[in-house]
Amino acid sequence: MNEKTQDLKSADPLVLLLGYVQLKQSRVRKAGSWCFFCGDDQSLARCGCPMPESLGCNGQRVCSDCAKAHRAIAVHLKQMFAAPRVDRVSSVRAKLFNQIFGAAEELAEKAGTPLEQSLHHFIAQADPYEDEKPHFKGTILDAFNRATFSDFVGLAKELDREKDSELALKLARWFSCVR
Ligand SMILES: [Zn+2]
Ligand SMILES: [Zn+2]
Repeated sequence: MNEKTQDLKSADPLVLLLGYVQLKQSRVRKAGSWCFFCGDDQSLARCGCPMPESLGCNGQRVCSDCAKAHRAIAVHLKQMFAAPRVDRVSSVRAKLFNQIFGAAEELAEKAGTPLEQSLHHFIAQADPYEDEKPHFKGTILDAFNRATFSDFVGLAKELDREKDSELALKLARWFSCVR
């Protein structure tokens, strides 16, 4: 047995795991044979989401979890960008905006991200009621770049939660009406 295998054998599994977590973190948003967003070794050749240019996965390897989350976020954004600007509380654009903003805010809170680096801080610079389409879209997409955002898995999870709690609220309202 050489010295190297001896070292590996005696290493604490937790230390090895922490080492891998650190290695993964150091790879995030760097091109290589790993996932561009989380640094995982298991990566697909391409993301396959509908917004590769705008969301920065174009030409990068991405793991299946990140690809799934990227797709969910891209579909949400596309829907939001397609919705007309309406100056009303019931605006679809504003509803979708509030959901992605709320998800990003919750994620930053949980991760302890400083406000000036948080995605929701940059998203807040778009105005769903006032902004013309190109400006609105540009500001939102720019927010992902300015925050050098990569935790799409976390964001997709929070976005689901936002949508679920909204649904629960709607149901509660509906039940209180029929009673
Ligand atoms: Zn990944
Ligand atoms: Zn993608």
